[in-house]
Parts: sequence; structure tokens; C-alpha cells
Amino acid sequence: MNENIVKRNELLAQRVIKGLSSRNMTGYYAESREAALSLALSLIPEGSSIAMGGAMSAHEIGLVEALKNGSYHFIDRDAMADKRAAMLAAYDADFFLTSANAMTEDGVMVNIDGNANRVSAIANGPKKVICIVGMNKICKDLDGAMKRARNVAAPINAQRFGLSTPCAKTGACMDCKSPDTICCQFLITRFSRHTDRIHVILVNDALGF
Ligand code: SF4
Repeated sequence: MNENIVKRNELLAQRVIKGLSSRNMTGYYAESREAALSLALSLIPEGSSIAMGGAMSAHEIGLVEALKNGSYHFIDRDAMADKRAAMLAAYDADFFLTSANAMTEDGVMVNIDGNANRVSAIANGPKKVICIVGMNKICKDLDGAMKRARNVAAPINAQRFGLSTPCAKTGACMDCKSPDTICCQFLITRFSRHTDRIHVILVNDALGF
């Protein structure tokens, strides 16, 4: 990666981390995917129960594979036939792994969801939440973050899941009320009342959508 991009990402990440701290959340900066993996594993004690939602970024840094192969109780929703049982187990997990559809420079996270299992677990339930966020998700302000969530993340996710939404066909949000819409719930995480619950690892790379 170009050294000027690296420098810019590092400086920007420090601003985001300061913003997160002001919101009672903990931010970290990882200079590579490998560093992010090692940092995430250092936060999760062996024996912990772990659930996840919408965490393509956690896959991309190798975290999901490491947890599945390690001494952890990984709650694998995809492998469970009873999705309601999987959802309820996730709410009671020690850790919830996720990302953000977008983040502001001052540490506000934006997530959209269709079924709401992901945004509800970020908001409440699991004891701790670990978000893996590539620097490609950082936006100037809340307006920019909402636009990114609706015009970048959502169309790609709609295409990925084969949904019949306007954005899947056009690549941009049409503010639909389609039965397939994935924009049922918008979660704006601007403060954590619970100290040491939400941890955000910013990664010097483009991750997820
Ligand atoms: S509101 Fe509809 S068109 Fe807009 S991003 Fe969501 S699913 Fe796509």
C-alpha cells in the first residue's frame, strides 16, 4: 500500500479512536489484516462463547476460521437448523462479532438490517461486541455514513443474497418498501452506556462492503 495512504489512514484512525473514546467505546488501529487478527484474538479469552452477524470483515482477516478451529464455543448460525435458537443463543453470548456498514470520523457507527438480529445484538444482549472495520468504511459525517450504508453496503448485500430490491438492479438506493428490503432497521450507535462492551478494530485495508 502507498505510504501516503498508510499515513492518512493512521491519522484518520486516531481521530476515529478519539471519537469512540468520547462515546465510551474502545477503538484500536491495526496496520494490517494479520495485526487485526492477533489483536482480536487477544481480546477474546479461550472458552468464550461467540456469535456473529454480518461480519464479512471478520472472515476476511481470518478471525472466524481461527475461532472455529480454536478452543472457543462458536455459535454457528449457518450450521444450526433452528434459527430462532441460534438467535437467542447469540443474545446470550460472551462476544458478538460484527462490522459496521459505515462509521463517521467522530466514532458513530451506522448499521442497517432486514431481520434485525445483527443490529439488535449490537444494541443489547451479548456481553461484548467486537467490530472489525476497514478504513474504507469511514465517512466524514453521519449524512455521509447513511449514504454509504444505503448506496454502497445495501446494494452489494442485496445482490449477494439474491434479493429483489431496486438497489440490486440499479446499484443505488431507491428508498424502497420492497418485501425483500434489507433496510427495515437502521441502528446509529452514538454512545455505549456499558463501559468495556463495544470494541472497534480499525484495519488499514479495504474490508467488507
Ligand atoms: S431501501 Fe431498498 S433500495 Fe434502498 S438500499 Fe434498502 S433495500 Fe435497497
